[in-house]
Amino acid sequence: MAHELTRRLIDAAVTAIRDHADELTGLDQAIGDGDHGINMKRGFDAIADAPELKTLPLGDALQKAGMTLVMKVGGASGPLFGSLLMAMGKAVPGDPTQGEQVQAMLAEGIAAVKKRGKSDAGEKTMLDVLVPVGETLAGELSRHASAKETLAGLCRAADAALERTRPMKASKGRASFLGDRSIGHLDPGARSSQLLIHAVCDAVA
Ligand code: ADP
Ligand code: MG
Ligand code: MG
Repeated sequence: MAHELTRRLIDAAVTAIRDHADELTGLDQAIGDGDHGINMKRGFDAIADAPELKTLPLGDALQKAGMTLVMKVGGASGPLFGSLLMAMGKAVPGDPTQGEQVQAMLAEGIAAVKKRGKSDAGEKTMLDVLVPVGETLAGELSRHASAKETLAGLCRAADAALERTRPMKASKGRASFLGDRSIGHLDPGARSSQLLIHAVCDAVA
């Protein structure tokens, strides 16, 4: 059986990264080594080139997509986004419409990124989008927001969180080598994370 949710999520994520690869690379030219879009596109092209992924249940597809990123992407982002997807895949909810289960899955993914990156929110990385999105999801669930409101809230949280990386000083990754000169630029991995959150919201809406 084709797994419709898996297919929609993969298509949306691949499209988002492909459409913004040049922009992501431009962001990384400012505070890194100018390859983030190339890295992410290489990884998501490899995911797109594995059509069998779309036929798998969500948990297996996420785990395989994560492994693909780890294997195909040389930069820091491959193992980090790979760990995120693999951990989320292992924690996939029995019922993906059950918000608390989705929240637990995201929490597992974030924990895996923190562990792999030896990093936390506040260091001007992808975590500065993922962590606030996780917190927003918890908040929307506790106030029993509708699915539609919750998705809109997650996208707004991702947008605001991305913008908050601009004044931050990087203390992890290549951008940290710049010290104060990392201030005043968006973090490339945070932009990728925000793009992926939007892709997920579009795919499940
Ligand atoms: P590289 O830095 O190896 O060239 P990329 O340019 O593809 O890799 O990815 C850079 C992004 O990876 C950064 O913008 C940041 O969001 C993320 N990143 C780098 N190091 C860490 C870390 N230790 N923890 C979390 N995220 C990190
Ligand atoms: Mg780079
Ligand atoms: Mg690099």
